[in-house]
Amino acid sequence: MSLPVQIVLALILGIVVGLIFYFIGKPEITTNYFKPFGTIFVNLLKFIVVPVVLLSMIDGIISMGDMKKVGSVGWKTVAYFLVTTACACVIGLVFANIFLNAGLFPTDLALADGEVWDGATSANFMDTLVAIFPSNMWKAFTDANMLQVIVIALMFGGGILAAGEKGKLAQDIVGSLYAVIDRVMAFIIALSPIGVFTMMTWVVANQGPEILGHLALVLLCAYIGYIVHAVVCYSVSAKAFAGVSPFKFFKGAAPAMIFAFTSTSSAATIPLSKECADEMGAESDVSSFVIPLGATINMDGTAIYQCVATIFLAACCGMTLTVGQMVTIVVTATLASIGTAGTPGAGMIMLAMVLEAMNIPVDMIMLIYGIDRLFDMGRTCLNITGDISCALCVTKWESKKAKVAR
Ligand code: ASP
Repeated sequence: MSLPVQIVLALILGIVVGLIFYFIGKPEITTNYFKPFGTIFVNLLKFIVVPVVLLSMIDGIISMGDMKKVGSVGWKTVAYFLVTTACACVIGLVFANIFLNAGLFPTDLALADGEVWDGATSANFMDTLVAIFPSNMWKAFTDANMLQVIVIALMFGGGILAAGEKGKLAQDIVGSLYAVIDRVMAFIIALSPIGVFTMMTWVVANQGPEILGHLALVLLCAYIGYIVHAVVCYSVSAKAFAGVSPFKFFKGAAPAMIFAFTSTSSAATIPLSKECADEMGAESDVSSFVIPLGATINMDGTAIYQCVATIFLAACCGMTLTVGQMVTIVVTATLASIGTAGTPGAGMIMLAMVLEAMNIPVDMIMLIYGIDRLFDMGRTCLNITGDISCALCVTKWESKKAKVAR
């Protein structure tokens, strides 16, 4: 049985068993005997997030060392990725806030087990900026301070590149460690049906059937964000910069979009994305640079999902976020989406990082974990659509430059 099937079955079973405990009036059984297994799973997720972020980012930076050679294509691509990802975060936040203000997200589900979460504090920008830079590397790791971990990754990645030949051993060590941590992550992900079943049982037994409606709403919110972003950012930029009409764009990208929707892996969709981009007029050398890079660092669907999920989970534990905290979400979700691997479920692991940065208990992820596959289908589809649109735009910009040079 494939993992997605196992997760769906675990989800359904969890709902059924949870409803049984809810209706017989014994939710404490789930708290005492089911939830601990879910907690073990969440602990494993927490434990893996720091090494994954650290190593994947250093590894990414090292592989970008070549980008200097690719010069002009490189910076245009990265600029396109960053601008569209920031737009994606804003779209995600806007829709999440609309849903929140319309009362469609629950406020304070009291899942906190008596713990008190820090309410919103108005963060001072300069303090936040200073706090991003670690004074002690190990403390950043033990506190799982993700912004600091990213700064450490940037420093070491840059340092390894700058060291040239002498940094070769460090490069190989990072590559090897990343391969190992990737396997460990795959193992933890393989345990997810157990986590889903036990946590879903506990959530439904304690919250009753209403929680299912909330999950449908948060899913709806994310999909509205995905669709708006695809139409507003991608089809408009493909039209404005590459002269491809929205209809032609979506029709041309459809095969890759469908594949991404079902495979939930940008990486696995690379060959098809490239084919679709080339069919629509992208230069092959541009698309062979943009598409794989995009499948690694350009994840706008993931960014939207992380913003929506963060607002939803913050609401669930009774936190009201300030504008300053929303800005932190934009920054962390942009970075987290860049660090997300193009593999199934990777965006959810990185969500843990956004939650850590916002002081939202990572355990809350379990609320939406069971339906992550449904989020993932839409976000992967959006992720690769952005890569295709970028390949078209950069091709056009490069050809204009070539004409001017001639
Ligand atoms: N599955 C996504 C992708 O491959 C990443 C994610 O989980 O957000 O693009």
